[in-house]
Amino acid sequence: MSTSRREFIASVSAAVAVGMTQGGFHSAASAAEDKKLGVALVGLGSLSNHQLAPALQKTQHCRLSAIVTGTPEKERTWADRYQIDQRHVYNYDSFDKIAGDDSIDIVYIVLPNSMHAEYTIRAARAGKHVICEKPMANTSEECRQMIAACQEASRLLAIGYRCQFEPRHMRCMEFAREKSMGAIKMIEAGFGFKIGDPNQWRLKKSLAGGGALMDVGIYALQACRYLTGEEPLSIVAQETKTDAQKFAEVDESLTWTMRFPSGVLAYCSTSYNFNGLNRFRAFADNGWFGMDPAYSYNDNRLESSQGSTDLPQQDQFATEMDQFAKCIQDNRPSRVSGEEGLKDLIAIEAIYRSVQSQSLVELGSQKSA
Ligand code: NAD
Repeated sequence: MSTSRREFIASVSAAVAVGMTQGGFHSAASAAEDKKLGVALVGLGSLSNHQLAPALQKTQHCRLSAIVTGTPEKERTWADRYQIDQRHVYNYDSFDKIAGDDSIDIVYIVLPNSMHAEYTIRAARAGKHVICEKPMANTSEECRQMIAACQEASRLLAIGYRCQFEPRHMRCMEFAREKSMGAIKMIEAGFGFKIGDPNQWRLKKSLAGGGALMDVGIYALQACRYLTGEEPLSIVAQETKTDAQKFAEVDESLTWTMRFPSGVLAYCSTSYNFNGLNRFRAFADNGWFGMDPAYSYNDNRLESSQGSTDLPQQDQFATEMDQFAKCIQDNRPSRVSGEEGLKDLIAIEAIYRSVQSQSLVELGSQKSA
């Protein structure tokens, strides 16, 4: 949909008016429902099941219109639960047929990380806009290919950085930009959890690309990047493995520091081997602000040297998808674009290089796109 926002609102109003005169309020409501952008969820695992599908029941500009799954039982249960006609149910073999399905405007990739690039590229070539879950891909090279495919198809690409739509994170970004507590001097950020099942894809390098850093450390990295509004100039990292068998293929626990152009130093951490690390704090000239917990789906808390701040809880995924729908309607790039995802992968690769070389990695001259 390349309709401008004004045209979109006008067309919804017109549709509502027609519906009200022709068939009363019910058809007006269904006309408005028809104007929502259709989302196809690709991969019906935990995130799709527990967060994205429920969020799509709350969105104002999107609706769940199709599913892609490799599990036949899920086809039936999902189609029944969300009233999805069989014509809009796909598997990985029939995926490319989405090109002929007008009910799909946006394809949301919710697969293991190694599959993000392939399905993003296929979705763009099928003429669909794409939201791809984080991390964007396993390598920066794949990120570049995804960006190029979406550009070639004139489709928008967004990465599932839900925290950028969380009111407390947004308030912290304001604190940072307005320098209400002075300029930031240092940031501390970390996210980790104790991972369970030793056989899951998150512990297999070919599917996950990496371990705790790729999965949750990326939230701490993102926070540092959106608080400073800068890209790291240099990175130095260390890794530890206390369970060499479980974490044979991927990182278990990592710490890293980043130096930013403004002089801000950030010290970050991530782990797959303990719970409770879920925070960031920025120390500025005249005070500090931060969140703990910071990256949860609900009940995050914002605190600062000026006291705690109460902001409304809202579904981060619903806001993320509605914001993307607005970008499509306005024909403007998403704030969490593919370029954002690429910048994180560049930093992640530098962190892994620093671990391997046991030395500081300079990024200053590296171009992101
Ligand atoms: P999951 O394991 O619960 O689901 C993965 C889905 O992919 C399953 O339906 C599975 O059947 C399917 N799949 C297809 N091919 C597969 C293969 N070869 N191996 C394994 N599964 C395969 O995972 P999830 O927690 O839903 O995570 C999916 C993506 O979403 C990941 O990229 C993850 O990083 C991301 N994620 C993001 C958030 C967030 O807050 N933004 C939270 C959780 C997960």
